This record gives sequence, C-alpha cells and structure tokens, in this order.
Amino acid sequence: MTRQRTVAIIGGGPGGYESALVAAAAGASVTVIENEAMGGAAVLTDCVPSKALIATSDFMSRFASAGRLGVGFEGAGEDQHAEAHLIQINERILALAQAQSHDIRAQVEGTGVRVCRGAGRVSAPGKVTVESEDGVEEISADVTLIAVGTRPRTMPAAQPDGDRILTWQQIYDLKELPEHLIVVGSGVTGAELAHAYLGLGCAVTLVSSRDRVLPGEDADAALVIENVFRRRGMQVLNRSRAKSAERTDEGVLVTLEDGRTVEGSHVLLAVGSIPQTRGIGLEDAGVEMTESGHIVVDRVSRTSASGVYAAGDCTGVLPLASVAAMQGRLAMAHALGDAVAPLNLRGVCANIFTDPEIATVGYSQADVDEGRVEAKLVTLPLSTNPRAKMRNIRDGFVKLLVRPGSNTIIGGVVVAPQASELIFPIGLAVQNRLTVDQVSSTFSVYPSMTGSITEAARRLHSLDY
Ligand SMILES: Cc1cc2nc3c(=O)[nH]c(=O)nc-3n(C[C@H](O)[C@H](O)[C@H](O)COP(=O)(O)OP(=O)(O)OC[C@H]3O[C@@H](n4cnc5c(N)ncnc54)[C@H](O)[C@@H]3O)c2cc1C
Repeated sequence: MTRQRTVAIIGGGPGGYESALVAAAAGASVTVIENEAMGGAAVLTDCVPSKALIATSDFMSRFASAGRLGVGFEGAGEDQHAEAHLIQINERILALAQAQSHDIRAQVEGTGVRVCRGAGRVSAPGKVTVESEDGVEEISADVTLIAVGTRPRTMPAAQPDGDRILTWQQIYDLKELPEHLIVVGSGVTGAELAHAYLGLGCAVTLVSSRDRVLPGEDADAALVIENVFRRRGMQVLNRSRAKSAERTDEGVLVTLEDGRTVEGSHVLLAVGSIPQTRGIGLEDAGVEMTESGHIVVDRVSRTSASGVYAAGDCTGVLPLASVAAMQGRLAMAHALGDAVAPLNLRGVCANIFTDPEIATVGYSQADVDEGRVEAKLVTLPLSTNPRAKMRNIRDGFVKLLVRPGSNTIIGGVVVAPQASELIFPIGLAVQNRLTVDQVSSTFSVYPSMTGSITEAARRLHSLDY
C-alpha cells in the first residue's frame, strides 16, 4: 500500500483553499494554516467586500437615471433622493464576508482537511511550523504550498490611522459617509472604490499619477470610464503624484509632488500591494524571490525549492482571485501526479467593477500596437445596440481581436453595465480558438447586449485583410 501524501498549505485565501480541495480529493492528508480566517483577504477585506459595496452603490445610481426612463417618485419634495446608510451598508458587507468565510471553512473541513489557526512558516525542508495561541507545532509535509497573499502598500508620509487616512481594508469600519473622499491611486482598486463612493453620494477626488485613469487597461475603455467619472462630478487629477497625506483639524490634506494640495474629509490609499513573504523561512528554504518579494514560479506553480509550490498574489503572476485559485489547483494536480495543463493567462477573463464595467480577455490592443501579436480588430459602440437604447445605456463598446488568416478570436473587451457577465462567450471563444464565423453564426437573443458580440464577429468576417 502506498503511503498517504502529506500537504501543508500556508494561507487560506483562494490560492490556498482551492488547492486544499484538490489535494483532499486526490487522497492527501491536508493541513491549511491561516492566521486570520478562511477565504483570505479576498473574502474578508478585498474582493468580496468591495463588490458588495459596489452593488449598493450601483443600486443607488440607478435612481439617479430613473427619470430618463420616465420614472418619477410620487409624493415627495423636489429634492427627493436615495440616501446611503453607511452603518447598515457596512454591517451587511461584513456579515456577508463572514458568512462566505464560514461557508468556505465548512466546505474545506467537510473534505477532511484540517484547518489550523496560526502563523505558518517553512522551518526546514519538508517541515512547516505553526505558531498559534495554543503554542508551536511542527508539521511534516511532502508538499508545501505558499499562498500568503499581499497587504496594502502605504507611503512613508501617508500612514493610515484607520479613521481618516485609510487603506481599502479599513473602509468597512467607517460609521459615516465621507463628505469628501480623496482616493490616491487610479489603478483598478482606486477606480472601483472612487466609483463606489461617488455612487453612494460622496464628493470624490481621484489622484492619478498617470495621463489617464486605469493606466494598465484598454485605452479606449479607460477613456470611457474617465469621461463617465467626470460627467458624474468626480474630480480627476491626472499627472498628479501624491507625496503625503496628513490629518488636519477638519479632515485631511494631501500634498502632491508639484506642491499643490487637496483638502478632503478622508483619504483612501490605493497605491498597490506588498507580498507577505518575508520572515517565513522562504529564503533559507531556497525559494527564489524577486526584489519586490514576489515568489518566482513556473506555469505549474513550482518554486525553485523542491516540494515547495506557491500560488496567488504572493507570486505576482496576475493578482486575481480566479488566477490564485487556478494556480493552487495546478500546483496540487502537479505535485500529486494528476494530469495538468500549464497556466494559460491568455484565457483569463478579468473585470473592473466600475459603471460601466470593463471586462477583458486574451490579447489586448496594446499587444497589437506594440507588435506582440498581429490582429485585425473591430470596435462596436453600444449606442447602436437596441437593448442598450431600451435600457438607456449610453456608454460602452464591444471590441474583438482576430488572428488574420485563421480568423480565430484571440481577445476582446466589453465596456458595459455587467460586462463581467458578457465576457464569458468571448472567453469561451478565445480559450477554444473559435473563429469569427463560428461566433457570428451562433444565435444571440434579440434584443440583447450579446447581439453586439455576434455583430462584431460578423463585421470581422467581412473585413478584408
Ligand atoms: C479591493 C480589491 C478588490 C479585488 N477584487 C477582485 C475581484 O473582483 N475579482 C478578483 O478576481 N480579484 C479581486 N481582487 C484580487 C484578489 O483579492 C486577490 O487576487 C486574491 O485575494 C488572491 O488570493 P490569495 O490566496 O493569493 O491571497 P489572499 O486572499 O490575500 O489570502 C492569503 C491569506 O494568507 C494569510 N496569511 C498570510 N501570511 C500567513 C502566514 N504566515 N501564516 C498563515 N496565514 C498567512 C492571510 O491572512 C490571508 O488570509 C481584489 C483585490 C483588492 C485589493
């Protein structure tokens, strides 16, 4: 009889808990070590809470456009408006996150995995040490997976106090809606949360060090979002790098590198993340890391140390919960001898939860413009889509990228309300190398937003190349 393999997983976020499920299904004896709660930052402070906050904000925003669909509110004064009750909103979000964490723990433990509350570190080859309230325990592991995630980066001259100067992990303790929120950083987290608080009724200033918001995203999509932000009253300061944030008697003062200042009631720092990889024995175990502290992994999540794998944000591969989970699954499949196809980042569907949302998959227009891939492309504004007209959707587009010759779809962008729900057919096409003809000959509902996807594919068929 073969000996049961032992697996130790440090970190119970998507990278950790998904790998635990795979390892348990493969018959291994699995321990997950988590120093906060199962679900990780994804569930407790980052992904789940922010999307729940945005759900409330989007709901409120719909009231503002009700008039354009002919809806009025009877029996109230002229200035009737929806109002955000932040205590209730935050209570709901935190309860939802706790419930999700609880469900994950129950699911993981239900497969026989041991969940250990404490801080884990690699103490020797094949050994993981857990420090908890109950003392110190050493666990032997044939396979170790590091999935310790990241924490918010702060700036030396802008230290969060959890009250007025905040990281995104501290906003759910606020008892009152900020009067004027200054968001420093216009990447995905900054843009999403600036949009969320604007929708809740705050005055928002977005401080962006670059030429435009969302610098890493499709330029056309980012332009749509920036225009929408401004139209709705957000102050967007481009080419403005924040140097410091300090408290004043009334609120906060943010000083920019060029000497300008911005006054507000609160400031939210969204200036990136730091991997939590230092001081947990990785250097001594021979795990190669980058200067930034990210763990170097290959496409099946192996590190440079034998028997040690890593998954999720701590690898710096692509900071998404879905990617963390996939890296964790691949690691365990590889380590425990199951069939495994290496990680394919071209198939990752990603979404930015602004309004409209930006969803992307596969190659981007920047890849084409910068010569990394040859493609023909079509951009179809949603303003011509009948369903969009009915729903009073004014902003957005569908963009498809196609490989010349084979006419296979290699990438796409959707900018639309709930684009996260519309990108999947394009993801399916990219992953399975479907041609524009296969997509355009597939029925879409009339009228529907997906009609723009089949229409874009039709246009690409008739594009001579
Ligand atoms: C505001 C925000 C919104 C986001 N929204 C989305 C989204 O909508 N969709 C999406 O796909 N991604 C989103 N992300 C990204 C997503 O949250 C991350 O990609 C995901 O959390 C990565 O999972 P992980 O398992 O690597 O790490 P984490 O979720 O960070 O989990 C790591 C866990 O390890 C624990 N840990 C760390 N060190 C130790 C130790 N030594 N011992 C024991 N435990 C330890 C930590 O406490 C933590 O619980 C968002 C991120 C942010 C910041």
